[in-house]
Formats: sequence, structure tokens, C-alpha cells
Amino acid sequence: MNSASPQHPSAPQPARSTAQSTAGSAALFERAHAVTPGGVNSPVRAFNAVGGTPRFIESARGAYLTDVDGNEYVDLVCSWGPMLLGHAHRDVLAAVAEAAARGTSYGTPTRPEVELAEEIVARTPVDKVRFVSSGTEATMSAIRLARGFTGRELVVKFAGCYHGHVDSLLASAGSGLATFAVPGTPGVPAASTAATLVLPYNDVEAVRAAFAEHGDDIACVITEAAPGNMGVVPPAPGFNAFLAETCAAHGALFVSDEVMTGFRVTRSGQWGLDGAVEGWRPDLVTLGKVMGGGFPAAAFGGRADVMAMLSPEGPVYQAGTLSGNPVATTAGLATLRLATDDVYAHIDKASLLLQEAASASLREAGVPHLVQSTGNMFSVFFVEEDVTSVPNFEVAGTQRVDRFRAFFHAMLEQGVYLPPSAFESWFLSAAHDDRALDKIISALPAAARAAAAVPTPQGA
Ligand SMILES: *Cc1c(COP(=O)(O)O)cnc(C)c1O
Repeated sequence: MNSASPQHPSAPQPARSTAQSTAGSAALFERAHAVTPGGVNSPVRAFNAVGGTPRFIESARGAYLTDVDGNEYVDLVCSWGPMLLGHAHRDVLAAVAEAAARGTSYGTPTRPEVELAEEIVARTPVDKVRFVSSGTEATMSAIRLARGFTGRELVVKFAGCYHGHVDSLLASAGSGLATFAVPGTPGVPAASTAATLVLPYNDVEAVRAAFAEHGDDIACVITEAAPGNMGVVPPAPGFNAFLAETCAAHGALFVSDEVMTGFRVTRSGQWGLDGAVEGWRPDLVTLGKVMGGGFPAAAFGGRADVMAMLSPEGPVYQAGTLSGNPVATTAGLATLRLATDDVYAHIDKASLLLQEAASASLREAGVPHLVQSTGNMFSVFFVEEDVTSVPNFEVAGTQRVDRFRAFFHAMLEQGVYLPPSAFESWFLSAAHDDRALDKIISALPAAARAAAAVPTPQGA
């Protein structure tokens, strides 16, 4: 049940066998349903996309999760990205325990927030940073700031990019290119998305057309630095640079959402793979996930002149009772300090190994698929037929989710916890050692065969 790495010491466990019981999870799920909509506090946890009983996790260590029934899984979700070092890392726990013992929140400035801000400024293309508690808050605040700075209202986003549940960003494309968006969910007023333009991802011409028509009114373009929320869809070479240039040419701001990629795909996020190499900077960056070390901490930051518009220095209001919380920022700081080049090298290597193994098993079983990655983040698209690229949300949506469902459950039964949706990245950690990787790799062939056995629907 435990990683062999020295950061996650533990006693060896007796071998466990036989089929999983899920009685404990099922009972908790039923109780949860009585008091919480859908039984969960964030929708994808409910297993709606794959069916079955979501596992209620009792504890986690290193690369492994243990559920309330005592089943153990190699974790390929890593809390949807944050657990870069693996679960319950000894040094992070020690820092957190020490911080908590000094009191958990004061509503005053503290030392760890300064140190974490310095660490983030050192690693990323931001001059200044402001802490918030979730990625949603980060993107919401970045957009307000972009609008306040430019005095403009229009926001450009891309279909399939997720930026949290911000009203103006829960938008679906209207009909045709460069038309204003419609709300993507009940409860969002049409007025909230009326100033949002939704464009197809990786589509240079659509961006040109939008700027040709509305260039003087666009406050910002926001994009996932490399989308991971429609499955991993890397930016076409030069696409982010093009967005940065186009924004600059029109007096709009380029907002790079690195909530998922930040401090995960490199020590400086996706920007470490493109902007740092190509020599450009986003105007604003949003961060979350890894930077909280498993606690609710997120941030937005950017150009000094833009950030100077933020209260109390400037007129754009933004605040938070628990923003920069000392325990959360201590966890984040400990995590980032431990996220050395060796950590990234290890995860990159493990990721490549798994990408190749997953592809080999699916090929062997005759299952059409495409593995796409950005840095160490990757996902497996269960496409209808073999293709060379999934460039956007429209193509991602053609997946055979029924095949993914069979694959997912076959992996789960063999003790591998994949993201319970075909439209998510798989995440690894520094604690995914040979033993954990071997367990995943040996589960792949049976899962690929389960996917192959799914009948093709009539009329497909
Ligand atoms: C997870 C995520 C968010 C939202 O963060 P929360 O902390 O869940 O609110 C925003 N943007 C991206 C790219 C994300 O992956």
C-alpha cells in the first residue's frame, strides 16, 4: 500500500487478494445523497460519466489511495493535479503541522505568504501576485482586473477550456464564429455571457476574425496555457505566442490560465515549455492546484502596471477572508521548494513510460486511440478511428466514451484509479516509483481488451 520512496516510509503490508468490496463507499454515498446534491461536492467525483459507486477515500500515501473498504489503488488523479510530490509527503506534513500549531488563520499579513509570493515570482513570468482560495476565484479576479485595466468589457475564451465556475466563463459558443456566447448552465444570466466570445481552440483564423471585428472592445483573451480539461489538447506550436502578440497589437491583455499546468509540467508551468523558450510573457497568469500543496490556495499575478490597479494600491476591488492563509501557503511553499528539477525529470520519464504502455496495450487490443500530452500531463483519447491529432473540443467530443467507461472500470478493478471521465488528464507524482508504475502497466492489457469488447453502437 505504500511507496518505497524514503519520503513515504511505511511498514510492508500483507498481500491482499480477491474482488473489491465497495459496501462502505456505497453506504456513504447513500448518506451523502440525503444531505448533498448528487452526493458530492464537485460533480466529476460522482462517477456520472463512468457509472458505478464513487470510492470514498479514507487515506492516501505516496502514489496510493486507500478507500473506506480497504481497497488500495495507484492514484492517477493526484487530487486533479495538486499532489505533485505524492500524498502525505513527510516534509510537507511537518511544515503544515508546525504552521497549524501556530494558529490557523489571523486575518493579517504573514511571513509564509511573502515567501510563497517570492517563490512564484522567481519561477513564473509574473512581477506581482495576489493570493485567493480557488482557481475559480483566480480567473474571476483576473478578468475583473483585465476589464478594469483596459476599460473594456469583452472577454475571448476557447471552447473546451475550463476556467472554474465563473459566470462569464461558463459560456457556450453562439452560432457561427465571433458571435457572443450563451450561458452554458441554468443560473447564469444571459447578460453575464453577453460580453464573452467563445472561439474554437487552436484556430488562428477565428482569433483574427474576432479581433478584426471587435479588437477595440476586447479586454482580454483567456486560455488554458495548455488545455487539460477537454483531455490534454496541447497548443499548436506558436499558438500561445500568437495570442500574446495579437492581444498586444490591440491593447488587450493575454491571460494564461495555468491553474492546472502551473508548477506541474515544468518548474514554471506551461510557460516553461513555450514562452520562456520563445521569449514572450503573458500579461496575467492564474495559478492554483500544485501551489496549494493540497490545500485551498490559488493566485493570479502578472505585469506590475496591471497588478498596480488592484486594491488597495489601485481602484479594482478584490479581497478574501482566508486569502493567503498561513497553513495553505506553508503547504504550497514546502511543495514548491521540494519540486526540484529531479522531481520533474522523474515525473516526465514516468509519464512517457505510461503513455507508451497505454498506447501499446490499446494497439494490441485493436482499440483506436490517440495519446496527447503537454510535458508530463497526458490523456488517452478513445477516438472513433485512429487520428493524428485532437486539436479542439469538437474533435475531443467524438470520443467513444463507452469504451473509456469499460477501460476505466477494468483499471479500477485491478487497483488503478484513473480520472473518472474521458475528458481529463492523467496525473503522476514524484512518488510514482517502479512498483506503482508496474502495477499500472500490468493492468493495461486487460483494460484495453475490455474497451475492445464494447460493441459498436447501431448506426455508428
Ligand atoms: C481546476 C481549474 C480551474 C478551477 O480551479 P478550482 O480551484 O477548481 O476553482 C481553473 N482553471 C483551470 C485550467 C483548472 O484546471
